[in-house]
Amino acid sequence: MTLIYPGSFDPITLGHIDIAMRGAKIATTLVVAVLHNPEKKPLFTLDERVRLLKNELGSISNIDICSFDGMLVELAAEKGATAILRGLRGISDFEAETNLAIYNKLLSDTNVETVFLVADALHTHVSSSGAKEVASLIYGNNLCDNPLDTVVSKNVKNALKQKFSRHRAVR
Ligand code: ADP
Repeated sequence: MTLIYPGSFDPITLGHIDIAMRGAKIATTLVVAVLHNPEKKPLFTLDERVRLLKNELGSISNIDICSFDGMLVELAAEKGATAILRGLRGISDFEAETNLAIYNKLLSDTNVETVFLVADALHTHVSSSGAKEVASLIYGNNLCDNPLDTVVSKNVKNALKQKFSRHRAVR
């Protein structure tokens, strides 16, 4: 069974990594699909996001990493995915995610299902937007970056540091 795990991954967090690894245990193949949506104005370019993902998940043999900018349901069909995989951190994710699942089913020729994995208790506070906000405060004020250790990997921490240092330098 192939599952497709789509997201912005701007940047990949420990929460995303956990969902992807657990998904890869259930699926024969897990396709991690990075959404290219310029309207979202991501901090990391599409290439950077894919590179960060490959660094974290590239060594897992049944994980396939790609990017897309069209309709998710079309990519799901193209990849032969049985279902879309998403993560749930709590009530706010539940509302948005169930709506998305309904729309994806309506848009899909095959009535594609969405399956959910509940976030690990260690990651319920973890989000890409939170990581970016905290990183901007930490690196903008020369603070100790230990608080980011529960949110992102060392490699992503370095990437965030470079972004916010670069942003400061051009101001
Ligand atoms: P999107 O922009 O599509 O919401 P994200 O990259 O923010 O993409 O998230 C992709 C998926 O990962 C979503 O299903 C989201 O709920 C899930 N997710 C994000 N953070 C976590 C986390 N800490 N634990 C579990 N799932 C998460």
